[in-house]
Amino acid sequence: MFRQTKAALQKLRYLSFNGQQHTWRLKSTSAKERALQYQPGQKIHGFTVREVAAVPDLFLTAVKLTHDKTGAQYVHAARDDSNNLFSVQFRTTPMDSTGVPHILEHTVLCGSEKYPCRDPFFKMLNRSLSTFMNAFTASDYTMYPFSTQNGKDFQNLLSVYLDAVFFPCLREQDFWQEGWRLENETPTDPNSPLVFKGVVFNEMKGVFSDNERVYAQHLQNKLYPDNTYSVVSGGEPLAIPDLTWEQLKQFHTTHYHPSNARFFTYGDLPLEQHLKQIEEEALSKFERINPNTEVPSQPHWSRPREDHVTCSPDALAPDPARQNTLCVSYLLGDITDTFEGFTLGLLSSLMISGPNSPFYKALIEPKIGTDFSSVVGYDGSTKEASFSIGLQGMAEEDTERVKQIISQTIDDIIENGFEEERIEALLHKIEIQMKHQSTNFGLSLASYIASSWNHDGDPVELLQISDCVAKFRQALKENPHFLQDQVKHYLKDNTHRLTLSMSPDEAYMEKQAKAEEEKLQKKIKALSDSDRKEIYDKGLELLAAQSKTQDASCLPALKVSDIEPTIPITPVQISTAGGIPVQYCEQPTNGLVYFRAMCSLNTLPEDLKLYVPLFCSVITQMGCGALDYRQQAQQMDLRTGGMSVSTQVITDSTHLDMYEQGVLLFSSCLERNLPYMFQLWSDIFNSTHFDEVERLRVLVMMAAQELANGISDSGHMYAMARACRYLTPAGDLSETFGGMEQVKFMKRIAEMSDLSQVIRALARIKKHLLNPDNMRCAINTTPQKMSDTSAQLESFLKDIAENRKERKTVRTTIVERPLDLLDVSGPSRKLISELNFQPCQMKTFFQLPFPVNFVSESIRTVPFSHEDYASLCILARMMTAKFLHGEIREKGGAYGGGARMGGGLFCFYSYRDPNSTQTLSAFHKGVDWAKSGQFTQQDIDEAKLSVFSAVDSPVAPAHKGMGRFLSGVTDEMKQNHRAQLFAVSHKSLVEVAERYLGVGQRTCGIAILGPENETIKKDPSWIVK
Ligand SMILES: [Zn+2]
Repeated sequence: MFRQTKAALQKLRYLSFNGQQHTWRLKSTSAKERALQYQPGQKIHGFTVREVAAVPDLFLTAVKLTHDKTGAQYVHAARDDSNNLFSVQFRTTPMDSTGVPHILEHTVLCGSEKYPCRDPFFKMLNRSLSTFMNAFTASDYTMYPFSTQNGKDFQNLLSVYLDAVFFPCLREQDFWQEGWRLENETPTDPNSPLVFKGVVFNEMKGVFSDNERVYAQHLQNKLYPDNTYSVVSGGEPLAIPDLTWEQLKQFHTTHYHPSNARFFTYGDLPLEQHLKQIEEEALSKFERINPNTEVPSQPHWSRPREDHVTCSPDALAPDPARQNTLCVSYLLGDITDTFEGFTLGLLSSLMISGPNSPFYKALIEPKIGTDFSSVVGYDGSTKEASFSIGLQGMAEEDTERVKQIISQTIDDIIENGFEEERIEALLHKIEIQMKHQSTNFGLSLASYIASSWNHDGDPVELLQISDCVAKFRQALKENPHFLQDQVKHYLKDNTHRLTLSMSPDEAYMEKQAKAEEEKLQKKIKALSDSDRKEIYDKGLELLAAQSKTQDASCLPALKVSDIEPTIPITPVQISTAGGIPVQYCEQPTNGLVYFRAMCSLNTLPEDLKLYVPLFCSVITQMGCGALDYRQQAQQMDLRTGGMSVSTQVITDSTHLDMYEQGVLLFSSCLERNLPYMFQLWSDIFNSTHFDEVERLRVLVMMAAQELANGISDSGHMYAMARACRYLTPAGDLSETFGGMEQVKFMKRIAEMSDLSQVIRALARIKKHLLNPDNMRCAINTTPQKMSDTSAQLESFLKDIAENRKERKTVRTTIVERPLDLLDVSGPSRKLISELNFQPCQMKTFFQLPFPVNFVSESIRTVPFSHEDYASLCILARMMTAKFLHGEIREKGGAYGGGARMGGGLFCFYSYRDPNSTQTLSAFHKGVDWAKSGQFTQQDIDEAKLSVFSAVDSPVAPAHKGMGRFLSGVTDEMKQNHRAQLFAVSHKSLVEVAERYLGVGQRTCGIAILGPENETIKKDPSWIVK
């Protein structure tokens, strides 16, 4: 389970309004119609209805209520979407950096009055069909959301969530485990040294190993030095040990109270039932208090400020001499002013998004830095918003130049304003986002309204997006300088601005470690002998508690019989257009057309493979046909919902040594723009401007920086990719495309002074890939639009036909699979077959400047169609929940860990782990545990529920039929797999554990990413990179 802190949440800032819409089902009985019948003033289960508003833009009805006795606030969004969501948020405004709201977020999930078992939250993951469960600590609120498609499940989860937040046990032991504690390094050995331990303590060390987060945190703290934003809500690692258990409980009493709570529900389940349950199980037991949690406004500075911070050097930075960050941040107005927020958000996009924006032209294109600073643009997550602009990956001597450019660009914007077409392109984007349907609409909505509502802004007003668009158009009409005036007011004339620079310090890690050591020694010095004895005893107690068999019977649970036995069939039609196979899938896409093309890599020479990811990331951004890259970006914004290309490596469902390799083209557009979208693709196919060297250099630099930044966040993915590398041919190719090898390759390219060789490689790739001979297409759109789309597709394919050229496949062993199993002579997919592939064992260690490890071990097992596959899926889930979670997270102190099954490979992993090789032992103990069969039918059923909640997670209309299109997995095959999942038994689990996970030296791979490691260095069986 992943719990995010503010820094991670920030990345969700640009939320889109995506969701499932069943417009074809609109009847008078629909949820949004029913909700319109509530009347302001109406009393329901202790609540009073305050407002009822239709929100046609988002196909929902919003109902605002307050709880009479406590003042708790409530918003219900009734919408015909079965993926119902609940969320409760509290305003949590700490004034120190002990991480009290974050530690509280963790500990309330450790057991409550009605559900006193340990960790009910994690246990519910296995007793429910939830589509989402999580908890977030932001800078000024803490939020607990879940979603599910099952009504009974909703009630169960609601009961657990309410009890957790309002009546948690908050045991001292929970505080030690989740927060911080002093403990013997080896808890069973009283003579081993005392060290700091604790989940949040380690989590925050991991978070701040990411320089982007370090910078973001400093910037916020320093821009708002006088209120809650001046502290680290997630916890400063060295301040965390100052928090006491008493303070934690006190914070709960004052902050987790209904009078300080905001409830949000979403979906097609009836509101009354939610209100009744919330009133009966929680709110009726409280009296109103004055929570006193308002955030005072930040007093405005009369003059701008400058500051400087340091960070650890980044070993993976494209250019080691250019590792500075500089950014200017401006304090804006209150986020509760909805229209102002909307305008400033748009303005921010106009200033920084895409190659046509003034800051992109002024800062990115001269290549002074590798990318914009990690914090950039409008940020409405604090009570008063901010706007930031700057660069990362720049040289120290460019500091003054960058400041000068920023101020000059602002002057230029005030002088020249923006092109009308760019404003239209942005408004078009908003239109698409409102129509595009994703599966987590409820969650997007909850996050979208959270910040403003948290400071008593009007959440319903926030949803009326068309009103804002209309008001915006009106404002522009009345005053053509409207936007320029805003820039002058909020940026140029604003004296509350901070210029913050960051530079690497070679001794940074050392200093951090030393500070931690000093803190530790200070704590230890204060201990008496009896304190030490107590610490030892408590450590043993915790270990005993963690090792005890757990009774979760107090928790509500769905049964395996609550799971639908069959899946609905998604009909698709396979036919051809211009001789190319096409899959058509009719879906309620709300007026959008989704286009995909899979282009095979089979003719591509081996030496070009490493370049394919770069090809994918630049091919839609170089300019094409008569358009230069700026015009192309503009057309894409004006006419499409985005155009992208990505690599695909798909292991065959019947054989692990067979796979399909390709790149996937994806784009969407409103129906009216279909000809424009295909014209753009034609231009890309026929004439991409690869010769734009300077443009390429900018894109390479940004791609390399992004890859390097991603490792500390996704280290487990890189570890897994490496561990899988030598086990299957597909694993090998996946590493080439998306593993550490690719990161290093991109770093090399970013350092090249001459890119002509790269340009030649990209142009050669294009000839092989964008070739109609190697393609198949898929279209998802409404039935009404299908025949028109098909005609447009046909003419597009005619347009690119001159690229058609028979090329020899590089490998001789190609296997063809019919796209339609009933028509074996029809169109087919071409797979590579490497039946003489020899898996081999390899242990790889990547030394990186992180304080924590990412560990993975991977084992080659069986393909999807094999009868043991289902048992391995259930086993991975069960081992994670019943064994590995306890060993790796609870005892080991890692942020997370477990096992997963995919592509025929059984992968163990840990995430932000203080241990390295010990975690490998934990994996092996997990295997022994599985082989011993010491698990119950209940454990198996829980794992099944958990696996099915993933298998049955909602699929958006844009993605329906994709399993079949990409992997050739039909609904019949899925149904067959489903039956096998239901049939998994105790016996089959023990059998697969013995058969595949036991010994078998040649079929497993290991990889660790982490800090310098003496044990591994001394062990010659490791390859150290
Ligand atoms: Zn956390």
